[in-house]
Amino acid sequence: MSVCVARVLGRMFGDISAAIDAEKDRLTALDGAIGDADHGITMSLGFNAVTAELAGMDLDQAKGSEVFASAAAAFLNAVGASTGPLYASAFIKAGQALKKDETLSIGSQVAIIEAMTAGIKERGKGQRGDKTMLDAWIPATEAAVEAQSRGAEAEEVWSRLTEAAEVGANATRSMVAARGRASRLGERSLGHIDPGAASAVIVLRAMMKSFVGRVDVSVADVAPK
Ligand SMILES: [Mg+2]
Repeated sequence: MSVCVARVLGRMFGDISAAIDAEKDRLTALDGAIGDADHGITMSLGFNAVTAELAGMDLDQAKGSEVFASAAAAFLNAVGASTGPLYASAFIKAGQALKKDETLSIGSQVAIIEAMTAGIKERGKGQRGDKTMLDAWIPATEAAVEAQSRGAEAEEVWSRLTEAAEVGANATRSMVAARGRASRLGERSLGHIDPGAASAVIVLRAMMKSFVGRVDVSVADVAPK
């Protein structure tokens, strides 16, 4: 039973939800420039639904993989369109990855990030350069894998990956949208940061806070025993 892991993930979703709520208006303004001005609202709804769902779970009895599975269902239920299925797929994949290693070792943390990106990619059939959230998630994942492969500590892995996400999100400013509602604008989407990439940075920074700021990973490692 992975007591610590489920609790850490519960706190992580609380951190993400609070961070999104704090930036809700900025995200909505970004979406107003190239979309339908609802991104802050939908992200807030989605993560609030996740935290409400997790508040009703007995996290002391839950596995980390079950937390992600419940988060996926709650997010999708709250946000049926666009971002909803993308983050739901991300959480489903993260849960599947965690099933193979129900710890929060740094290897497992990187596997979660990789799985989330894979879920978003598969579901949205998108790629880097489309001016979407993947322009933050893909470089973040590459940076995480690279840092971990040379044996970096969790703190460095997370600072590299959040920096890469931020650089990637900022780069969407000079991209023409290829997917989603913004693609209808064509060249007029130039000069604006993609709101999905901006919120991805917020999500990843909140995850970093949960994993690096608070977790004693060695304690989390032994939790499943
Ligand atoms: Mg929108």
